[in-house]
Amino acid sequence: MFCYQCEETMNGSGCTNAGMCGKKGAVADAQDRLIYLCKQIAKKGSNTEEESVFIMRSMFSTITNVNFDLEYFNNRITEGKKFIEITDEDIYSNAGVQKEENVDLKSLKETIIYGLKGLCAYLDHAYVLGYKDDEIFSFVRKLLITTTEQKSAEELTAMVLKVGEFGVKTMALLDKANTETYGNPEPTKVNIGVRNNPGILISGHDLKDMHELLEQTKGTGVDIYTHGEMLPANSYPAFKKYDNLVGNYGGSWWKQKEEFERFNGVILMTTNCLVPPKDSYKDRVYTTGLVGFEGLKHIPDRDENKQKDFSALIEHAKSCNPPEQLEEGNIMGGFAHNSVLSVADKVVEAVKSGTIKKFIVMAGCDGRHKEREYYTQFAEALPKDTIILTAGCAKYRYNKLPLGDIGGIPRVLDAGQCNDSYSLIVIAQKLAEAFELDDINKLPVSYNIAWYEQKAVLVLLALLSLGVKNIHLGPKLPAFVSPEVLKVLVDKFGIKGITNVETDMEALV
Ligand code: SF4
Ligand code: SF4
Repeated sequence: MFCYQCEETMNGSGCTNAGMCGKKGAVADAQDRLIYLCKQIAKKGSNTEEESVFIMRSMFSTITNVNFDLEYFNNRITEGKKFIEITDEDIYSNAGVQKEENVDLKSLKETIIYGLKGLCAYLDHAYVLGYKDDEIFSFVRKLLITTTEQKSAEELTAMVLKVGEFGVKTMALLDKANTETYGNPEPTKVNIGVRNNPGILISGHDLKDMHELLEQTKGTGVDIYTHGEMLPANSYPAFKKYDNLVGNYGGSWWKQKEEFERFNGVILMTTNCLVPPKDSYKDRVYTTGLVGFEGLKHIPDRDENKQKDFSALIEHAKSCNPPEQLEEGNIMGGFAHNSVLSVADKVVEAVKSGTIKKFIVMAGCDGRHKEREYYTQFAEALPKDTIILTAGCAKYRYNKLPLGDIGGIPRVLDAGQCNDSYSLIVIAQKLAEAFELDDINKLPVSYNIAWYEQKAVLVLLALLSLGVKNIHLGPKLPAFVSPEVLKVLVDKFGIKGITNVETDMEALV
């Protein structure tokens, strides 16, 4: 195996025998074969929606911490072979990251693939809600084909930015799907304590799963809690009306080993990030959608016009003890574009009067390594006249700190899941209009972004495609970015790594 798609790749260069994430070598190799098959379907297939959905879901399933199940990938490859004439020999001899020998071309092609993986995840969430865009399907195919062709570094660099451009379109589509289906998120105090009923903890990004689970647990005496990236669901009007939605339990994905143990109830993983479960709670974890792990129970997909059947896990939950309390109080959420723009006048006035000096976008990912304490320290050290704009699980590094507010505007404005970084883009664009600026970079906004996996790669490319400059990216720069490609990113966009809180504060604030 060779995999270097995420931030915690071994020694900052690549996982070879097994993944730091827990992915086995055989699974990584099967994922490579699946990606190769997708490229060939894009090239030789019949361009049907069925093929596009197959490609979209295959790409999504290979994202870090989504699916660890070898059987799943072998079955998927068998399924995909029906679309085109292709031999196993072809697949086995041509699959894999290392097939491109030129280090810079490989870097650019893999950046395209990882950005597309993130894009396909968001596209799938929209598709599940009945929203699709054939132009985006065609774009995915076109770009997959590009990675099989002889292209110059300049041509591939242009394609990398195109991925970002289509990333914005895809996040906009998902935003439309989520808000038209479940309403615009509202500023909400989310409870982080527990009640004395058995519970189900739901994690991941799939709001349709969330809705159906709430509907099916209504009146059963089983409470629902969110975990990790599902926290923003607490701010949607369609979910707030359920009495059994208690709030959020615990922190971000990497804390699940300890927190799932103490939750006592049933856990439902709807997307990533799944951490290989401990034996002590493994029997209480269910997967659904594209998530998979050998030995975990899986809730199958819904039949047409029907809900998924969550009855097995609801019955299981009834026999479990209530969750152990980890903490108490509230955290604020629900500051997506609609909420923030509804008080845009107040925000603009606060900036003009100097009450707010700067916005710092600290969106992105959290991760398990100690070096990410930097983000807590950075948030704590920010001057009191700055506001943090966030989305994604990076927020757990500072969303429980007592950072206060500025004239009633909380100092941490959480737009939601990582796909809701789209909200931050809309907010920045509207502020630029309000200040009559011709360049988004003239706004009093700085970017200190944390990344972990491929959806964050897409978000980063989306910001670059909009011309955002001087982004600080940490905790480490991607291993798949070669020195020459990095030089282009530095020269063209001023991308930097992070150093220490003091130095970066000086540069960013
Ligand atoms: S996803 Fe990350 S940790 Fe897992 S094998 Fe790939 S690079 Fe390693
Ligand atoms: S914020 Fe990052 S780690 Fe969390 S789900 Fe999104 S891309 Fe993954």
